[in-house]
Amino acid sequence: MEAENGNDGKKLFIEENGRLVVLGGGESGIGTALLGKAKGFEVFVSDQGTIKENYRNVLIHHGIEFEYGQHTEPKILNADIVMKSPGIPDKAAIVKKIREKGILVVSEIEFASKFTNATIIGITGSNGKTTTASLTYHILKHELEVGLSGNIGKSFAQQVLEHDYPNYVLEISSFQLDDIVDFKPHIAVLLNITPDHLDRYDYKFEKYIDSKFRLAMNQTKADYLIYDADDEVIGQWLKSHQIQSRLLPFSLVKTIENGAYLDNENIKITIDNNQIIMPTANLALEGKHNIKNQMAAATVAHLLKIRKQTIRESLENFQGVEHRLENVLKINKVQYINDSKATNVNATYYALESMETPTVWIVGGQDKGNDYTELFPFVNEKVKAIICLGVDNQKLFDTFGNMVDVIVETQFMSEAVKIAYKIAEAGDTVLLSPACASFDLFENYEDRGRQFKDAVRNL
Ligand code: ADP
Repeated sequence: MEAENGNDGKKLFIEENGRLVVLGGGESGIGTALLGKAKGFEVFVSDQGTIKENYRNVLIHHGIEFEYGQHTEPKILNADIVMKSPGIPDKAAIVKKIREKGILVVSEIEFASKFTNATIIGITGSNGKTTTASLTYHILKHELEVGLSGNIGKSFAQQVLEHDYPNYVLEISSFQLDDIVDFKPHIAVLLNITPDHLDRYDYKFEKYIDSKFRLAMNQTKADYLIYDADDEVIGQWLKSHQIQSRLLPFSLVKTIENGAYLDNENIKITIDNNQIIMPTANLALEGKHNIKNQMAAATVAHLLKIRKQTIRESLENFQGVEHRLENVLKINKVQYINDSKATNVNATYYALESMETPTVWIVGGQDKGNDYTELFPFVNEKVKAIICLGVDNQKLFDTFGNMVDVIVETQFMSEAVKIAYKIAEAGDTVLLSPACASFDLFENYEDRGRQFKDAVRNL
């Protein structure tokens, strides 16, 4: 099959009825397998770890062959095309062997986009993807038939199969971008770039930056790149590289002819002399980072000619996304906030920045080589006590021990919340914003966030 959304003559050729091997039996793997099967491929799913029972049942139900706990090479190295799930690194032995054989390796978004003509809004960045994608979808759905996918909910591949929307908002990670060939969003959003996941990029920040910009690499003059003009990493890259996309910057400081900027207490977005103005006081999501997320989402909507009234109202009534600066409860005039999704320092930076009252900060988990220096001013100014919640808290003690009066540690969420309850006084905030991965003590960040909320509700 000839790629329908390829451009400039660069087209990925996928042989129909070929053998499709899907590496990884998670959400994107299962979606790809189902789509591939429906399109006539001979499909084989292989996962070195386990495949969840509900996914196995889906595969059995659709007569798709699979294995888990192993990779049987003869059944993999005879593939015409391999879809590699985003969690599998290039250094995995099986991936090396596949590449050595010259077999085409693509990501799920590349594969799925071959089977839809939808207009794609692709959102990436180190932080804020889920928030911005959800908000963009929330605005667009009032006036467009649109699907929300990528790292959120049902896989893109499965949505293309089951309900091919004419428009998709896709949350896209760098891992998905690494294996695209001619995938092209009509509207690309690049929120920010800060060091993250460097273990997958040979510990070279430049490689990670290049990966993020792959979002725009197939764009033409008819396509748009909406990006944070205040982000120096993005600015530097754009100065030294050529891309075709029409640029729409957003900024908290600069006055911009085309794009979005903050003018006193108003967001102003101008596209070809058509301007929309929104007072920030009415926005549902608080914090500077969220002003940016909201600018980005509103720019997409404005570009797609959503009515101004709809954009304004949607930004006012958006409920936010679970585990992202989520207000849980107010108990004895103390606000409890769940920001469990803050798994890196930059996300926590914005959480602390947006705190307006003395804060009891629950932090810690699996450290990813964190440099906490940028948090120091906020910790000095706003944090009255630190509760370290990780298996190994030594680095936190060493870093912040001299900065706050109270610093304690625990390995239990319920205890962390009880300690916070004892320390916090009326008017304070208790903030869970770990700046670390959750896997040392929890299943994942959702589990950590839910345990926090349960503990707060049980106070
Ligand atoms: P992602 O999907 O990129 O991980 P989320 O929307 O899930 O992003 O947010 C992850 C964390 O980053 C949360 O703690 C959130 O409060 C914070 N965050 C959201 N938007 C931004 C932003 N633009 N810049 C920095 N941090 C952000």
